[in-house]
Amino acid sequence: MFPPVLKLFSSRKNGEGFQISEELPLSEHEEKYALLGVRACDLSAIQIQDKVFGGGTYQDPAYVRVRNQAFIIAVNCTHAGGTCFCSSVRTGPRARVGFDLAMSEVLDGEHYFIVEVGTDRGENVISTVTRRPAEDREVEKAEHLIRAAAQSTGRSLEPDNTREILYQNTEHPRWDAVAARCLSCANCTMVCPTCFCATVEDTTDLAGTSADRIRKWDSCFTLDFSYIHGGSVRPSSRARYRHWITHKLASWVDQFGAIGCVGCGRCITWCPVGIDITEEFRVIRETYLMNRGTSPNKE
Ligand code: SF4
Ligand code: SF4
Repeated sequence: MFPPVLKLFSSRKNGEGFQISEELPLSEHEEKYALLGVRACDLSAIQIQDKVFGGGTYQDPAYVRVRNQAFIIAVNCTHAGGTCFCSSVRTGPRARVGFDLAMSEVLDGEHYFIVEVGTDRGENVISTVTRRPAEDREVEKAEHLIRAAAQSTGRSLEPDNTREILYQNTEHPRWDAVAARCLSCANCTMVCPTCFCATVEDTTDLAGTSADRIRKWDSCFTLDFSYIHGGSVRPSSRARYRHWITHKLASWVDQFGAIGCVGCGRCITWCPVGIDITEEFRVIRETYLMNRGTSPNKE
């Protein structure tokens, strides 16, 4: 819904000057998407991106169009991954909103799917499939598997007071420790389903007769991203990592009313040096609780 590269417009030399294409930057996205297997964390990420791209005064027409046409079949997780922490940040593993259909697969002596209908479009699709009403025991078995997945996530993150904790620890020594490992590779931001930073570039052909303006994903881990006259606002890995996690877990609350992390764990999986958002936040939270005279275990 937020493509890595999107052409905004083209311009062509026409003899006297340049002609800007009037075509909206959406032609390559006119296809309708059906997304099969969307997890609860990703549904929550879509809800966040709805606010970012479609909820304010200025809406992103490319996003809104693809989003409104998307057909979403969610899958409730019955096996948690080692880097997941959706249950602790209350985004999963059960899909609750934002789907047309939601499926739970039971593969435990017998094999069947429980399907929940979320919209009329979902009803139209499921009505073409051979099916029958689920028995209570079948529904309960599926719910049991989802509850078990919620309790077996490999990580956890305490989502309360994240804003206060990070705002009060902008000079925590942990920022130096994480900066000593962070490569500023930007992997974490490229895989994050809630990250939305982009930059705009112009390219011309060698003859100078045409030019395209494109929008492409960018990352707060690049030096250029915060470059203004005279240099980058965040010149060190320390500053960039601190900014990233503080935005995700603190200033995001000011902007959008909730934290910007849905607990999918992808940034942990794809970090080449094993930096773990749950671990970095845990260390800083413990300092905060100690300064308040509260044991982390009692909190
Ligand atoms: S910050 Fe990490 S765990 Fe949180 S949503 Fe982004 S990729 Fe997933
Ligand atoms: S993926 Fe890891 S090393 Fe790369 S920028 Fe993110 S935290 Fe730093």
